[in-house]
Amino acid sequence: MSEQPLILWVRRDLRLGDQPMLAAAVATGRPLLPVFVLDPETEALGAAAKWRLGLAVAEFARALEKIGLRLTLRRGPALAVLQALVAETGAGGVWWSRLYDPAAVPRDIEVKAALKSAGLEARSFAGHLMHEPWEVETGQGGFYKVFTPYWRAVRDRGVASPAAAPNRAVAPAVWPASERLEDWDLGAAMNRGAAIVAPYQAVGEAAARAKLAAFLDGPVDRYAAARDLPGVAGTSRLSENLTYGEIGIREVWHAGLRARDEGRAGAESFLRELAWREFAYHLMHHTPQITHANWKPEWDSFPWRGDNPDALRWKQGMTGEPFVDAAMREMYVTGTMHNRARMIAGSYLTKHLLTDWRVGLQWFADCLTDWDPASNAMGWQWVAGSGPDAAPYFRVFNPSGQAEKFDAKADYRRRFIAELSRNPGPEALAFFDAVPRSWGLDPARPYPAPVIDLAEGRARALAAYGARKA
Ligand SMILES: Cc1cc2nc3c(=O)[nH]c(=O)nc-3n(C[C@H](O)[C@H](O)[C@H](O)COP(=O)(O)OP(=O)(O)OC[C@H]3O[C@@H](n4cnc5c(N)ncnc54)[C@H](O)[C@@H]3O)c2cc1C
Repeated sequence: MSEQPLILWVRRDLRLGDQPMLAAAVATGRPLLPVFVLDPETEALGAAAKWRLGLAVAEFARALEKIGLRLTLRRGPALAVLQALVAETGAGGVWWSRLYDPAAVPRDIEVKAALKSAGLEARSFAGHLMHEPWEVETGQGGFYKVFTPYWRAVRDRGVASPAAAPNRAVAPAVWPASERLEDWDLGAAMNRGAAIVAPYQAVGEAAARAKLAAFLDGPVDRYAAARDLPGVAGTSRLSENLTYGEIGIREVWHAGLRARDEGRAGAESFLRELAWREFAYHLMHHTPQITHANWKPEWDSFPWRGDNPDALRWKQGMTGEPFVDAAMREMYVTGTMHNRARMIAGSYLTKHLLTDWRVGLQWFADCLTDWDPASNAMGWQWVAGSGPDAAPYFRVFNPSGQAEKFDAKADYRRRFIAELSRNPGPEALAFFDAVPRSWGLDPARPYPAPVIDLAEGRARALAAYGARKA
């Protein structure tokens, strides 16, 4: 029994260090068979996330080779693929790191039940989060719906130390056949975008760790204020790595704790943001509908507009509102968007353009290389006002005022909007290369007039809000 290989079903845990499942598997001394399954749930990812996932998988395959393992790639429904692999290899079990989103949970429950009933060892491990969402409870035994008390509950709570990366693992006598990553063409829906976005990606564990070190080496000191300035490289940029598990959250947390203990200004704020990610997962576990339905059902009667021509201009970075357009164009060029800009762009769509937050959520899911099911949903419901602990709807961000405050010298807007400069920079021009040709955008044309006057949009949003309450 103990010689039977173990299948390691890897998903969003594409790293060697701080990987409890891998560490436990290596410790058994059994031959290990890592597999990545391109199942329908993974196929359903948005264009940019799917493409970026392909880069992560390729890099992880290289990392596994260094410890003597090979990543097997298979396509098909997860359970069928895993059962076939068990039959081919004589594996005694399948292990994986837990996921928490509504697409993954029912699949994983089904896999676990089927494997167990076939007498196989089916084990799931923690590792994607610092705390399992059901382990953090209010004094009354419920879950947290508001961030500040959640933060109080987790701020000083122990987080398991990151496991060391294994140097070597036992390989099976024979490797199962693998499909080729190139044949999956995970970037198929990226059109011309992939070549533009690629230089902004820092793929894999070593790159993620280097980013963390560079951030803690300096920018963390100014993080509390700089994290709000989209024109400044003031944040860690770890979201793309955390979402695919290219770096472990426990490792990041412990590094942040050390910085706090050393008295580094900003380390506390950084830890707090890591807890926001955790809170998003806490909410998604307890209320999975957060990913697709108004978290507060009273919002169901709100007269959101579905997809509409104004929303198209928002997607195109052509609203005529420079802060909003810079944000949308940043996403097209780099695959990510600054947090302050996400708030402004989201608020503008849901309030000034009175458009359903799900239109924005879906667009972000298609365009972000750091797309995360929990943080994206929580972020959108927060900006829309329909979520737990959300910004009150009547607090409508003014993109122009926000730009004056957070992009005072217009560095961010100029960086991404070609029409605002006489000599636009490469990133501002790259946007026009990245977007679909069918949009017919041209940097030589004048910058568009605003879709809606800001005061008018605000008044319209507040009127709709008032009508909803009546
Ligand atoms: C409408 C909207 C949509 C969003 N969609 C996503 C998404 O799809 N994926 C994603 O990772 N984040 C999302 N966020 C949260 C946030 O904008 C990003 O996590 C952040 O900009 C990533 O940059 P960074 O890694 O430099 O963060 P840092 O400021 O360096 O923070 C460190 C880490 O803390 C976490 N974090 C920081 N801010 C938040 C936050 N507000 N909510 C949850 N976690 C946070 C992230 O894991 C981040 O990598 C969204 C926010 C909004 C308002």
